[in-house]
Amino acid sequence: MSCIFCKIIEKEIPSHVVHEEAEWIAIRDVNPQAPVHLLVIPRRHIRGIDAASAPDGAILGALLLGAARIARSLGEESRGYRIVVNTGANGGQTVDHLHVHLLAGRPLSWPPG
Ligand code: AMP
Repeated sequence: MSCIFCKIIEKEIPSHVVHEEAEWIAIRDVNPQAPVHLLVIPRRHIRGIDAASAPDGAILGALLLGAARIARSLGEESRGYRIVVNTGANGGQTVDHLHVHLLAGRPLSWPPG
C-alpha cells in the first residue's frame, strides 16, 4: 500500500485529525493555503472523482456534507468558504486518493490560478 492517505487513515503515518466518522476522516492539510485548510478523505480508497461512479454517491455526499458541517462547527458559515476537488494533472491533483479540500478564514479569489 503506497497511498499516503491510506497510511494516514491506518495511522501508519501521523496527521492532525480534526474529525473522524465511520466512512471518512478530516485532517489538517500539511501545507495550508488558508487559515482553515482541511482535507475530508473517505476511508475507502477511491483514486479520484473521475474514478467514482453511481454507487459512490453516498460517500461523495457524506464528504460534502461533512465539510459543510465542519465549516459550520468552526463558525465559518457566515463568512463563507470553499470546497474543492482537484482532479488530474490540470486540476492540480497531487494525491491519488479522493479528497475534498475545505478552505476558509480569508477571502478566496476567483478564478483560481
Ligand atoms: P491535491 O493536490 O488536491 O491532490 O491535494 C493533496 C493535498 O494533500 C495537498 O494540499 C497537500 O498539501 C496535502 N498533503 C500531502 N501530504 C499530506 C500529509 N502527510 N498530511 C496532510 N496533508 C498532506
